[in-house]
Amino acid sequence: MGTGVLHIDLEAVAANWRALDAASAAGVETAAVVKANGYGLGALPVAKRLARAGARTFFVATAAEGLELRRALGEAPAICVFYGHMAEDTLTIQRGRLTPMIPSVAHLTRHLEALPGHPFGIQLDTGMNRLGLKWGDWAAVAPLALKAKPKLVMSHLSSADDPASPESARQLATFREMTDGISVPRSLAATGGTLLGKDYHFDMTRPGVGLFGGLPFAGAEPVVALEVPVISCFDVEAGEAVGYNATWRAPAPTRVATVAAGYADGLPRALSGRLEVMAGKVPCPAVGRVSMDLITVDIGHLDRDPGHVSILDPHRGVDRLAAAAGTIGYEVLTSLGRRYRRSYRGAD
Ligand SMILES: *Cc1c(COP(=O)(O)O)cnc(C)c1O
Repeated sequence: MGTGVLHIDLEAVAANWRALDAASAAGVETAAVVKANGYGLGALPVAKRLARAGARTFFVATAAEGLELRRALGEAPAICVFYGHMAEDTLTIQRGRLTPMIPSVAHLTRHLEALPGHPFGIQLDTGMNRLGLKWGDWAAVAPLALKAKPKLVMSHLSSADDPASPESARQLATFREMTDGISVPRSLAATGGTLLGKDYHFDMTRPGVGLFGGLPFAGAEPVVALEVPVISCFDVEAGEAVGYNATWRAPAPTRVATVAAGYADGLPRALSGRLEVMAGKVPCPAVGRVSMDLITVDIGHLDRDPGHVSILDPHRGVDRLAAAAGTIGYEVLTSLGRRYRRSYRGAD
């Protein structure tokens, strides 16, 4: 195998879903967010495993993602689309029996005209200013919208990954003011909000990243491991440079392994000089620049040349890699390359 292998533990995904489900009261539904191809890990195998674990509602970003999911999951689950009802998506929404989460008055009008009687949900803006009806618009269209019996009214927290932020309580209060007294199921919390406590749960939680082992769900089971083959090993003399722009020079004679992954495989170039990989149990520093398809690793301290190295493992997760690259686990997860072979544990 000439490329890396991304190991994805679907049993861990299911365990993380169950743990987040257990964080809320019995009557609260725990949905699953599998947008962006299941945060890069494969929306279909992930969603199938979660449906088996008991998830009944899935969220995706685009209608096309929703249609693909519908074909894989069959008719039973609800599939909700965060992009709402885009002008080109009417047919896809209809064929996929998708539930658009309406983010504006324009989408509401389009939906009620194009597909009267077809299920929909409503997104409200409670302060994030990204998607959702603002208070004034909501006040104006609520009678019409509620008469059409939305399946769900939801909003999204901007700062739930930071329990110290006052934004969450502020948004919670706004969400209550905008929705108290309506007889439609409500949802406010993604992973971070789910962990903020029961005040944030309403009728449904919508975790995504926590299912995949990412922060802010610190107690999550690790889901991904990444093993990458070594292409070539060679000696370098003291003073020789390695990689683009000669940013690293061997301080002493050593041995270098060139491994089969780079920034085109989701390992950010910003990791240059900040990445450590494992050869078995022995950490090895990556040296020089991360290039498009290759990383160079100092293996001078090993007894023999490794056949492969591991870049992600249960002790070195996406958040650690993300911190080294100056980004967040979400971005690392969703960038993990399409070139890797994916190996699933616990698939149907
Ligand atoms: C992505 C997203 C989620 C899931 O968020 P996580 O932080 O990954 O749990 C939930 N709701 C909305 C509106 C989202 O965009």
